[in-house]
Amino acid sequence: MSEPEKLIVDGLRLDGRKFDELRPIKIEANVLKRADGSCYLEMGKNKVIAAVYGPREVHPRHLQDPSRAVIRYRYNMAPFSVEERKRPGPDRRSIEISKVSKEVFEAVIMKELFPRSAIDIFVEVLQADAGSRTACLNAASVALVDAGVPMKGIVTSVAVGKADGQLVLDPMKEEDNYGEADLPFAFLIRSGKIESIALLQMDGCMTREEVRQAVELAKKGALRIYKMQRDAILKRYLEAEEEMEEIAEGREDA
Ligand code: UDP
Repeated sequence: MSEPEKLIVDGLRLDGRKFDELRPIKIEANVLKRADGSCYLEMGKNKVIAAVYGPREVHPRHLQDPSRAVIRYRYNMAPFSVEERKRPGPDRRSIEISKVSKEVFEAVIMKELFPRSAIDIFVEVLQADAGSRTACLNAASVALVDAGVPMKGIVTSVAVGKADGQLVLDPMKEEDNYGEADLPFAFLIRSGKIESIALLQMDGCMTREEVRQAVELAKKGALRIYKMQRDAILKRYLEAEEEMEEIAEGREDA
């Protein structure tokens, strides 16, 4: 990717968005048969899939915690997900993303309800275009609800970047590569209200005032994403209800 001369032209970003616009988002829950919960999610050119297993028995057993469930999170990028082929397997970056993402869900899942068990969250990045950790957190959150794992709320994640001196919501690859800063956030949202910040990372440089504005911008974006997560979950449960009705009707006919 060659460096563009400018990231913002006539007030618009290179993909035509305004500073406070998200990339197009697509969310579908319950896409994998074998997982207890799953989700496919697109955020712009990011394409990710999340699978949740559990609560289930912990192997190896010495990893069990008698007072709560152990949460495990694996972020993995497919070799074909990025411009230059990525070497398969974990690297420092994916280990770091897995660790901070696991900590988000440790704070949100009601893990005391499931002593001695494990909840495994796997996220696979099929295509990455900056913000893949935020896309994965959003997908994992929907997959956890799909699996019926009790949580204090929904996790919703979005980043704010700085491009040509201007704060931008949900930066794409050019803004991430050539911008001045990148701040990924995750929020805990309960009943449509932002309860707390569950993740905040920072790469680059921002003033105190810019950080304050970035939090406000991220919150607005997160509430929009939350609505789409909620719609995907509702759609999944309506489909399940229809299926149950069809099964019940089939039984009556038989
Ligand atoms: N990226 C890449 N190769 C890698 C890691 C990352 O090309 O080995 C790209 C990918 O598009 C990713 C972006 O760089 O989305 C930004 O990476 P970053 O570490 O900031 O994480 P992200 O923004 O995806 O959460």
